[in-house]
Order: sequence, then structure tokens, then C-alpha cells
Amino acid sequence: PVVPSGGVVARIIDEVYELCRADTSGTLADYIPELSAVQPDSFGICLATADGSIYGSGDLDAAFTIQSISKPFTYALALADRGVAEVARHIDVEPTGEPFNEISLDPQTQRPRNPMINAGAIAAAGLIKGTDAADRFARIRRSYSRFAGRELTMNDAVYASEARTGFRNRAIGYLLRGANIIDVDPDEAVDRYFRQCSIDVTCRDLAVMAATLANNGVNPLTRERALTGPLVEQVLSVMTTCGMYDAAGDWVTTVGLPAKSGVGGGILAVLPGQIGIAVYSPRLDAHGSSVRGVKACRELSSRLGLHFLHVT
Ligand code: GLN
Repeated sequence: PVVPSGGVVARIIDEVYELCRADTSGTLADYIPELSAVQPDSFGICLATADGSIYGSGDLDAAFTIQSISKPFTYALALADRGVAEVARHIDVEPTGEPFNEISLDPQTQRPRNPMINAGAIAAAGLIKGTDAADRFARIRRSYSRFAGRELTMNDAVYASEARTGFRNRAIGYLLRGANIIDVDPDEAVDRYFRQCSIDVTCRDLAVMAATLANNGVNPLTRERALTGPLVEQVLSVMTTCGMYDAAGDWVTTVGLPAKSGVGGGILAVLPGQIGIAVYSPRLDAHGSSVRGVKACRELSSRLGLHFLHVT
């Protein structure tokens, strides 16, 4: 793909914003009170280029929790800590075609099918190195902050609710411990997953995080390296096949970009070497992805010609 000039990008973002704003379908996540208490009409689209230009429309600086968009970033840190081969012994890279919270372990190896579903994400959280639980989470938070180019913080109220209600995730943690996929205390691994899901971000932050992946792991604003090039490739590969859960095939055909969504209402997408895109709008579809987010990404991809298989 050849991304159009800045002026065209800015105009198309405004058009897509106006078009998608009319869509008020979908429902807020309601498994904890904090997620159903957000402004349902919030909507932001942000695009950051691999050389650091930022374009956007709408609510670019409203905070919301990163939720499952944390998964590729913790997987990235696990890869950096343990190496690709060791992580692969614990977490596979095969798409499931199943929902995000599926209790999906390979019957032969007991490995979670991939790091983008909860089972794989909890396993990745269990592989993070550090001196103690606090240090291991601090390393995750600092790693996300390098991608975002600013100090990110955890939302205490969301974390408390996640921890109070997350029985299914605890069950997954205990299965992983029973199968020796994680060798730490399963409660610690699951608690770390709840904490990482509760990190607050803005639409602008997610666009910069995406642009850091697009820029081969170097944050285009701070010039700080957040991840090595080969690991960026590994993470984007898994996002391509598994990032949108049971909608992955539809996403690849209609948008054609590695991406990740979260039930906080964010979606992040990457065109390697070129741009990062983020959309925030909290009303979700049946897969747990932002309705306007999916629609805006489809429109941006087709109007800007971003599909990674698109030949100009
Ligand atoms: N905290 C949520 C969970 O684990 C995140 C899910 C998501 O964003 N898809 O259920």
C-alpha cells in the first residue's frame, strides 16, 4: 500500500468519523459496573505515522481501559524475556475461531492455542520476569509506556472490579497451572492479567503504540526502542491470525491489517512500516469489539487503500 499525503489522510479521517458517528448500535460491556458507566457516545479516530505525524478526529484524549489490547504487548514482553522458542513451548500461535474467553487448550500439549485469547494471555503474564509480583507488573506497565511514549497508569476501580468478578479467568489460570504451562502461583498470573487489562489509555496513546509496532519497535515520538524488529514481526503475525478472535477471517478480508480489540472499546491496527491506527468507541458487537471501531477501520482501509495485500 501507498498511504496518501497528510492532507488527504486528515480529510478522510474526518469523513469516516462523520459517517460512523451515526451508528449507535451495539452495547456497552456490562460484566463490571465501571465499563457500563462510560460515555456511550464517545468516539475517536487517530492515525499515527511511523515517522511521528498524528492525525485524528473526535475524542482523542478520553481515558479508557486497554483490556485485551494489552495481550500483544504482554506477549511481546514475554518474548523479550524468554525468547521465541521458550514462549512457544508454553503458548501456541494457531487461531481458534472461538470467543476470547474460551477455555481452549490443545488436547495434546495443553498449550493455549494463541496469546490473543485469555488462556494464552494469562500464560504470557505468567512468563514475565521480575523479582516479585509487584516488579513483574511494573515491568509490564513500563513496557506499555515505552510503546505509548508516556507514563501509563492503572485504573484502580476497574482493577478491583476485574479481580472481584474474574472467576472464569481464575479457572483458566488454575487449568494452566495444573498442566504446568505456568509454574508461578496461578492467582499471581491471573492478578497480573487483571492489572494489565486495567491500564488506562487514550485513543492517541493506542495510535502511538500501533505506530511503534509499525516503526519496527521504535517509538516514533520518543525514538526509544520498545521491542526488537524480529519480535515485532512475531507479534504482528499473531495479531493478523488471532487478534480479532472469531471474527479474524472477516477482519482480514475487509480490513487486512494486524489488529487487536478490547472490551473497553478500543481497536488498534498496524500497517507495518507505515502507520498505526486506533479507534475508540465503547459500544460493542457480539464478538466484544467496538462497532464503530470495526466500521471505521473498514472505511479507512478501503478509502486509504491500506489492506496489506492491496497492490497499487
Ligand atoms: N478483562 C477482560 C476479560 O478478561 C478483557 C476481555 C477483552 O477485552 N476481550 O474478560
